[in-house]
Amino acid sequence: RKDIGRITTGSKALDELIGGGIETQAITEVFGEYGSGKSQLAHELVVTVQLPEDRGGLNGEAVFIDTENTFRPERVEQIANAFELNIEEVMEKIYIARAFNSSHQILMAEKVNELIQEGKDIRLVIVDSLTSHFRAEYVGRESLATRQQKLNQHLHTLQNIANTYNAAIFVTNQVQARPDAFFGSPTKAIGGHVLGHAATYRIWLKKGLAGKRIARLVDSPHLPEGECVFKITNDGIVD
Ligand code: ATP
Repeated sequence: RKDIGRITTGSKALDELIGGGIETQAITEVFGEYGSGKSQLAHELVVTVQLPEDRGGLNGEAVFIDTENTFRPERVEQIANAFELNIEEVMEKIYIARAFNSSHQILMAEKVNELIQEGKDIRLVIVDSLTSHFRAEYVGRESLATRQQKLNQHLHTLQNIANTYNAAIFVTNQVQARPDAFFGSPTKAIGGHVLGHAATYRIWLKKGLAGKRIARLVDSPHLPEGECVFKITNDGIVD
């Protein structure tokens, strides 16, 4: 079994909260309201995964499964500049897959295996948003079970990629209000059981004052619950 790798979020405080950065061989779910910074974190990570290990990266490439047309190359460029990386080289190492519906999204995740077998060194898979297509397509109480079953299948595919290729999985999940008992979480099934056997990290993002963001780690398998503050700037995520 390979050593677990970690990818910096750009914020030391947030890295420390989650044990040193986003982990490989695990799924990290970030959830929060509209505008809380979920996609911003995703844009940061597709850059930082490319950094050498001594700068908090994994020298790796990234897949960005984009379900809501949120991927912005201009934003990647700003973040790459902040790390003094060459934007063309950075963009070449990000594989963008637009997913038009939930079946397509599931298929795109399965295709990551092929990309890696072709020789791409994928160490990070983003799904932004994990849940939007599923919510739009499976509406009403009677379809809830099917929705969760499809989502479980998708998460299982992602977890396999994480384990097989020592990759980090980062998924976003928009939730409207304050989290309730189940936090509206797709990675945590009813009854509090965390999906699968490997670690699942869940980070709740909230908007704070003066452009600040508050991150709270919840339901972590082996880290204490806690909070930290970070900022979103032109340079990306910072303390
Ligand atoms: P949704 O659920 O709607 O997709 P989200 O949580 O993914 O929301 P993001 O798109 O990550 O939200 O965050 C958008 C917010 O990030 C903006 O409202 C703004 O506050 C902040 N932001 C984006 N770019 C910058 C920037 N260059 N400088 C400072 N703040 C920025």
